[in-house]
Amino acid sequence: NVPGSSIGVDALPIRESLRGKSAYGAPQLSVPVQLNTNENPHPPTTALVDDVAESVREAARELHRYPDRDAVALRTDLAAYLAGQTGVPVTVDNVWAANGSNEILQQLLQAFGGPGRSAMGFVPSYSMHPIIADGTQTDWLPIFRRADFALDVDAAVEAIRARRPDVLFVTSPNNPTGHSIGIPELRRILDAATGIVIVDEAYAEFSDAPSAMTLIEDYPSKLVVSRTMSKAFAFAGGRLGYLAAAPAFIEALLLVRLPYHLSVVTQAAARAALRHADETLASVHALAAERVRVSKALEDAGFRVIPSDANFILFGEFTDSAHAWQAYLDRGVLIRDVGISGHLRVTVGLPAENDAFIAACDDLARTEL
Ligand code: PMP
Repeated sequence: NVPGSSIGVDALPIRESLRGKSAYGAPQLSVPVQLNTNENPHPPTTALVDDVAESVREAARELHRYPDRDAVALRTDLAAYLAGQTGVPVTVDNVWAANGSNEILQQLLQAFGGPGRSAMGFVPSYSMHPIIADGTQTDWLPIFRRADFALDVDAAVEAIRARRPDVLFVTSPNNPTGHSIGIPELRRILDAATGIVIVDEAYAEFSDAPSAMTLIEDYPSKLVVSRTMSKAFAFAGGRLGYLAAAPAFIEALLLVRLPYHLSVVTQAAARAALRHADETLASVHALAAERVRVSKALEDAGFRVIPSDANFILFGEFTDSAHAWQAYLDRGVLIRDVGISGHLRVTVGLPAENDAFIAACDDLARTEL
């Protein structure tokens, strides 16, 4: 007897293009080993927690006022981090921030997509790209990757020339397959592009491949590099994504962002977390080493492993991946069915979590599959 529960979404005058679509839906289950959403499994240090708490306490004195609408201090800190990490001398004018990189991507499509416009992506890739396209009424143009999930640059260039998308998504390292794109290949794509190119680098810190940011100077009217504090920075709950691009892009986004979108609390907490970047990012090396260990264990157990540059691994092959996903869950290990036939994705966790996953793999290889 929830008031109004007699009607379903179909009874609402929802936009036709949204009818029958599914919402983003990584299951949030309480399971001993959660390796399904590509978070950093290392909890924040006590020093970071204390700094966040003290910074938010200080910021709370200003809660009766709206926050800095342009988040200048936070963007300045992000620019300093990016310049250090990539060697590209970006400043506050090159950087924009929002509540997670999902909001960054949505703002970009609000400004550069929309009715009568199209966005192209190389699938399988991040499931939110088409969902954000739908939400902004941007036509979605999926182009398939090769059978080994690598991006086929010749096919990409051909598709770009034929379809002339207004927005192009290149995810590097790609979620859920783990491949990075090289700078020469990216140049070919940028040269062919007629619209903007969003390089989604949510997992950049896990990869040794150079950042697309090195190309901003050469492609100022095309290239946007999207990043997040959700992965390597272990700040998924803090909700902070950002981008680097020519300053003109930030001017464009000011036209679509909601005023005061980043709360006083978010800005203070993110700045505190950035002050501890060195200690947080130390976990990236440990996770990369665990990725190698888990990949090897999977291979030894007879699975197909897609080589990964990120903090997750796509593996198979299963005759029935939905059944296999459930079999892992029955053994207390939550991984991800990303909708690729015969494959599942596991996030690299803490050593003990990875041990539990490997034990489940060995068990499954022996019994079920
Ligand atoms: N891009 C990619 C490729 C991702 O995998 C994710 C998170 N799964 C995001 C963007 C969005 O992350 P967030 O909104 O937490 O920054």
